[in-house]
Amino acid sequence: MNDTSQRALLDAALDAAAAAPGSLLVFDIDDTLLSTGDRHRRILAEYAARLQSRAPRAAKLLSAVHARDLRYQIVETARAAGVDDEDILRELREFWFARFFRNEYLLEDAPTPGAPEFCAEALRRGATIVYATGRDERMRAGTERSLALRGFPAPDGRSVRLKLKPRFDTPDAEFKAAVTEELAAWGEVAATFENEPLHANLFREAFPRARHFLLETRHSGRPATLHAEVLRVADFRR
Ligand SMILES: [Mg+2]
Repeated sequence: MNDTSQRALLDAALDAAAAAPGSLLVFDIDDTLLSTGDRHRRILAEYAARLQSRAPRAAKLLSAVHARDLRYQIVETARAAGVDDEDILRELREFWFARFFRNEYLLEDAPTPGAPEFCAEALRRGATIVYATGRDERMRAGTERSLALRGFPAPDGRSVRLKLKPRFDTPDAEFKAAVTEELAAWGEVAATFENEPLHANLFREAFPRARHFLLETRHSGRPATLHAEVLRVADFRR
């Protein structure tokens, strides 16, 4: 993806939204609008500090993990860094799980380049912004604080909506499928933005006349062949 075509694709989505005031631009959050990388790395650093006296080698390996070394799963990140002790990996997984979804940790997330500006411009041009995320309702406070901190338009329940999962344990794909039915009641979908190919495909099926984007950041690795009409972009820079 060269910069010129990325800009053209993103501009076309803004133009489509502007041509139909109130039409919806639908954004996933994690690894679409915000990178979870710094959240992963904070948890790794905290766990490494805990391991320091018991397993200094593993602690050193974990605290040296760079953003580019992160895998989608924390245990895969640790294995790739050279940690192979199964007890440590199991404990790390539990340590991570107890923190990754907590509101205070959400404040670590940095925006995908250009994302806050893109959302603000869409709103300025008359679009309705929908943040539709697999985060659950307990994460609403941290999500709202994080969006504000990073300069995204604030949810107001009308032109900017924040849709979270009612239940933590609902599979994301099931939740996104349910969201497509609510979206239709809120307005015409102009474009959707996702980092999961499976979810991008799901939106493409539900709204064949809209534009659908895949952010080439990171995804869960769940197998899916991306629909041929889903557009790939690296980020939101125009
Ligand atoms: Mg995501």
